[in-house]
Amino acid sequence: MKKTLDEASRRKWCVWVLCAGCVANLQANTSLQKHAAVFMAQQTAALQRDISQDATPAAVPKHNTTRPWVVLPAEATAYVLCYHQFDVPNNRYSISAAKLAEHIDWLRSNGWEIVPLETLVDFLEGRTDIPLKSVVITIDDGYASVYRRAWPVLRKKRVPWTFFVYTDFIGVGSAACTWAHLQELVKHGVNVQNHSKSHAFLNIRGERTEQQYIEFLYAELLQSKQELERRLGTKVWAYAYPYGAWSTQVRDLAVSLGYRALLTVDPQPAKATTSPTALGRVVITSDLQDKLAEILCERTLEVEVVEPLPHQILRQPVVLVRCRVISPSALQSVRIHVGVHKVVSLHYDSQTCELSAVVHVVHSTSQRITIEAEDLSTGRKVANSWQVEWRLPQVQEFSSRQPPTANQ
Ligand SMILES: [Zn+2]
Repeated sequence: MKKTLDEASRRKWCVWVLCAGCVANLQANTSLQKHAAVFMAQQTAALQRDISQDATPAAVPKHNTTRPWVVLPAEATAYVLCYHQFDVPNNRYSISAAKLAEHIDWLRSNGWEIVPLETLVDFLEGRTDIPLKSVVITIDDGYASVYRRAWPVLRKKRVPWTFFVYTDFIGVGSAACTWAHLQELVKHGVNVQNHSKSHAFLNIRGERTEQQYIEFLYAELLQSKQELERRLGTKVWAYAYPYGAWSTQVRDLAVSLGYRALLTVDPQPAKATTSPTALGRVVITSDLQDKLAEILCERTLEVEVVEPLPHQILRQPVVLVRCRVISPSALQSVRIHVGVHKVVSLHYDSQTCELSAVVHVVHSTSQRITIEAEDLSTGRKVANSWQVEWRLPQVQEFSSRQPPTANQ
């Protein structure tokens, strides 16, 4: 018998694992927590045994299967990194200038090419090509530590970068850049672009009337653009939403005002089909500063995803990931990450190239599932990834999430 459970019963079993017992009581009851942990471990082990038996050639998904599947081809991947401050102690949005230098060296020695934001936008508009592994460096807000600490590093290493500043902040207090700083940066070829007038949430109308809201949006999108262009003598064509917050109304207005690129803080990489007006960025905070290698995924591995499919909405915290590596097929050290966390319960069959893993999350989240390995023929790291959405019932969200507290 090749399978101990068919697909449907395995799915039912997952649901039963999660619904057994009232998870809402877990927070207050340590004894119950211990029982739940043991229970989950037992179920996961059983599920793994099942997966292990399941990973036979007959279980490999074929193109003529009726089961839905999606091929993630190898393709150019571009990440936009977003930094804020440098050498400011006890600040989650600050890293050291030495760490920035380390990032640049690591990127370059691992085959990533740092390209200007405009090159990426040209690529997304179909005007040019970019290297298969591209990174864009952006820095937000307009802090003086960028001018004093980061710029010397970026200048010395000849790194193209974009500075997104909000105009109400410039020249105000010792923590901010002055207009003279920005003029000097522009003179040396730094791309200074718009990060709003007041760093407000553009998507929140609040108590404003419709007319007041439109006037507010014009000030944040247009008045700030005109001030930057007037003071710096440059063309402003890119906008980084404060906090990454936007709405279709905000986006449409920004496009009508002449912006070619609109940037959020959703961490997904750009590919050829990405719109330059919905460009994600990875915010590098102090807790992520040593995880660059885990964050940047090369889409150099061709993968056939069986489940869960890209952007599938999942209602249960434990799911079975199944996919098949198409090329290159000779791999070693196959591993899987959810976000930056490595999944340990993995089975990879090198004969069939099928990978199965039990993935476990504890609260609603958007996560990228990343398959990584070493290509045996070249010795190089290869990877691919896709995003899935966990939307768990409220009662199961017993793990707290920290609300955003600082500028993004
Ligand atoms: Zn900001």
